[in-house]
Amino acid sequence: MLTFEKLYSMGHEEVVFFSEPSCNLKAIVAIHDTTLGPALGGTRMWPYATIDEAVEDVLRLSRGMTYKASVSGLNLGGGKAVIIGDPKKDKSEALFRAYGRFIESLNGRYISAEDVNISVNDIDHIYTETNYVCGIDKASGGSGNPAPYTALGVFRGMQASVQKVYGDKSLKGKTIALQGVGSVGLELSRLIHEDGGQIIFTDINEDNIQKMKAEIPNAEYVNPDAFYDVNMDIYAPCALGATINDETIPRLKCKIVSGAANNQLKEDRHGQILKERNVLYAPDYLINAGGLMNVSIEFEGWNDAKSRRMIDTIFDTTLDIFAIAENQNIPVNEATDVLAERRLDSMKKIQTTYLGRGSDHRFPGTKVRHNKL
Ligand code: NAD
Repeated sequence: MLTFEKLYSMGHEEVVFFSEPSCNLKAIVAIHDTTLGPALGGTRMWPYATIDEAVEDVLRLSRGMTYKASVSGLNLGGGKAVIIGDPKKDKSEALFRAYGRFIESLNGRYISAEDVNISVNDIDHIYTETNYVCGIDKASGGSGNPAPYTALGVFRGMQASVQKVYGDKSLKGKTIALQGVGSVGLELSRLIHEDGGQIIFTDINEDNIQKMKAEIPNAEYVNPDAFYDVNMDIYAPCALGATINDETIPRLKCKIVSGAANNQLKEDRHGQILKERNVLYAPDYLINAGGLMNVSIEFEGWNDAKSRRMIDTIFDTTLDIFAIAENQNIPVNEATDVLAERRLDSMKKIQTTYLGRGSDHRFPGTKVRHNKL
């Protein structure tokens, strides 16, 4: 149940429930922390069984966005939204436009984007009613599909990990085991292949398996059951979260874990276990921030080169985090939180919450610029 004690303990500023019975809209927006700027995070549509389940999800996801924006050096806060409904049956123009009007009423404190089950087309309906949305179609002046940019960031994080373990960032001669060759996984495969890495992959979607085989013929397919036992230098989780757990860790033979999936560690203690086994873990919420960095550029006028330059900084930040982890003798996941919290805490001293801007303003008024940490 949502209580003020819960909000205090997680640090949320605001949680808003929106409803519009005529189109069966049930939405919750959670604004976690706007110290660094307007809260940006996608909207997810999911048939949650209960309101409590939806609340739990939106609180957890919005908090994660604060940390992701902070460690990525973005002047953005953390927010997220959920629409309770079945994406196959409940989507309509009216629902997304009603939702867009509600977002407009937050005056720019929350900016939406795509998340699970929300398409560019749905975003276009929201954009009809509010400017506080990004991930807009390229044809409408937006940045389009974020997956290639997310993949680029993951690739930079992987190069930094290889540099740390082997002393050279090249993937030539390394075996990378990719779990999930969907939007991000396929793009990542291209980059790995170009750099000379050898790919072993798994997936459960036959279309995506065939696409991958056509794209990179020398990549080897293994079925999901055998996947964790293959010989690999790098494990790249690009499908689901929580795949680093008590069952999988003893089976993994890799020296590096570096992938796109959110929340790869089932529990925080699994970061410590990886450390004890000498497996370097690339911080998931930093290296998969390329998509967030890319949409953030929309506020200054999107530009591919600018976006790629910003995403390239993930290489250096990943190495910085490895250095903090080593110097303080703590797991990488803890070091990532240390860096994110250090920036938030220092900015809290000079800034208060973001109050939003007038509704006639396309841009939230804050320079969504990248800051070197
Ligand atoms: P996607 O749905 O396009 O691809 C996921 C792939 O994983 C699919 O091909 C699916 O069949 C496969 N898969 C699902 N369950 C599997 C299993 N048990 N074993 C093997 N394969 C399985 O998703 P995506 O956009 O490529 O995102 C991949 C991951 O990266 C997700 O965890 C997502 O949350 C995260 N992520 C994505 C972005 C982005 O820009 N798309 C940004 C940040 C994080």
